[in-house]
Amino acid sequence: VKVEIVTIGDELLLGFTVDTNAAHIARELGEIGVSIPWRSSVGDNAQAVAEAVRNGLDRTGAVITTGGLGPTSDDLTKPAIAELFGREMYHEESVADAIRARWAGLRRSGKIPESNFTQALIPRGAEIFANDHGTAPGLWLEDERGRWVAMLPGVPREMREMLANALLPRLIARTGAGEEGAVIRSRTIRATGIPESTLFNRLGPLATNVEGLAPAYLPGIEGVDVRLTSQGRTALEADSILDRAATAIRNALGSYAYGEDNDDLAAKVLDLCRSRRFKLSVAESCTGGLLGARLTAIPGSSDVFIGGVIAYDNAVKRSVLGVPQPLIEQYGAVSGEVASAMARGIVDTLGGDLGVAVTGVAGPGGGTREKPVGLVWIAAHGAVNECRELRLFGDRAEVRQRAAQAALDMVRRGLG
Ligand code: ATP
Ligand code: MG
Repeated sequence: VKVEIVTIGDELLLGFTVDTNAAHIARELGEIGVSIPWRSSVGDNAQAVAEAVRNGLDRTGAVITTGGLGPTSDDLTKPAIAELFGREMYHEESVADAIRARWAGLRRSGKIPESNFTQALIPRGAEIFANDHGTAPGLWLEDERGRWVAMLPGVPREMREMLANALLPRLIARTGAGEEGAVIRSRTIRATGIPESTLFNRLGPLATNVEGLAPAYLPGIEGVDVRLTSQGRTALEADSILDRAATAIRNALGSYAYGEDNDDLAAKVLDLCRSRRFKLSVAESCTGGLLGARLTAIPGSSDVFIGGVIAYDNAVKRSVLGVPQPLIEQYGAVSGEVASAMARGIVDTLGGDLGVAVTGVAGPGGGTREKPVGLVWIAAHGAVNECRELRLFGDRAEVRQRAAQAALDMVRRGLG
C-alpha cells in the first residue's frame, strides 16, 4: 500500500517551520506497512495544492495533506481539493456546533469571530474527523474510483491526535494491515565514544549485513546511532529479526553501545546510580550547566542527583569548590589536576557518593597552542575515580554538548 504526503504552508517553503508533520506521518504509516513513495510541500496557494494532490492521486490514488485547514484566509486546502473532486462546499451545522461548544469550553469572552465558521464549510460527501485540540476538523474525501485524500490540520499536536485516532484505524481497516500484514519497523542501537568509521570497522561483516538487514549509520553529537529497518515482514517476524540483529550489533560494539531507540545516556547514568543508591553531583565550567540540565531533564532524577555548581570563574572554583589557587596557577584552569580537584570539591561541598567535573575550552576564542579549542578535561571523584583528556571538534555548542555526553559516559563506564 502506498500513500503520498503533501504538506501545505508558506512557512515550510521559507524554512521557518521544519516539516516534522511529514516525518511523523511517514514513521506512523511505516508501522502499519504503508510506504511513502513520494512527498511534497507546497505554499498557501490553491493552484499548487490542487496540483500536488492531483499528481499524488494519479500516482498512488491516496494522499494525506497537512495544514491550511484553519479559519484564516491563507487556509485554502479545503476549497482547492473540493474543486479538484468537483464537489461544492456546504455549511455543516454539526461542525459549527462543535466550534461553538469549544468556544464555550475555553471560556473565551465575547462573540466568536465569524471567520471561525469558514471551518464549518466542507466539501459535499466528505467525512469529518473530529479535532479534540482545535477547531479545524479533518476531512476524508473519496471519489467513485476509491481514490482518497485525508486532510489533517497543520498544528502538529492536532495532526498527531487525528492521525492516531481517526486516520490510522481507517487505513488499517482498509489495507488489512496490522498483525498479519507487512509492517516497517526500526530499531536503533545507540553508541558513544567511538567515531563512525571506527565503529563501522569494528562491526566487520555485520556492518553491511546483519540478519539480512543493512544497517544505517547516523552520527550525531551524542554519538553514533546504528539503525536497523525491517520491511515486508509481519510485526512478529520483524520484531524477532530486529531482536536478533540488535543483539548481534550490541555484542560487536561491546561497551560502546549504551542503549536502544530513545534511550538517553543521562537516564542510564541515573539508573546505574539508583540501583547502587549513589548520589551524584556535578561541577561544571565550560558546559555551564548542560550536564545538570541533561540529568534533571530525566523524570525522577531527584532521588539520585543532588545538584551542582557552575564554576565558570576561577574565583568560584577556588571559593566554592576549594580548588587550590597554586594548582590553577601551575596547571591552568583547563587541566586534569583542576578537573579532579573540582570533582573532589563538589563531593566535599554537597556530599553524596560521586562528583563529576568538566573544564575545557569551548571556543571559538580562548584557545592557545598548548590548549586549543576543543580541549576538555573531565573527572569523576568518589564511586568512580577517573580523569580524562578529550580533544573535541565542532563549534562552541557542539564542544559543550560532546563534553557533557563524554562526562556522562565516563560515569556509565565506571559504574557499568
Ligand atoms: P489552524 O487551524 O491552527 O490554522 P491549520 O490546519 O490551518 O491549523 P496551518 O495554519 O497550516 O494549519 O499551520 C498551523 C501551524 O502548524 C503553523 O504555524 C506551524 O507552526 C505548524 N505546522 C504547519 N505545518 C507543519 C508541518 N508540516 N510540520 C510542522 N509544523 C507544521
Ligand atoms: Mg492556519
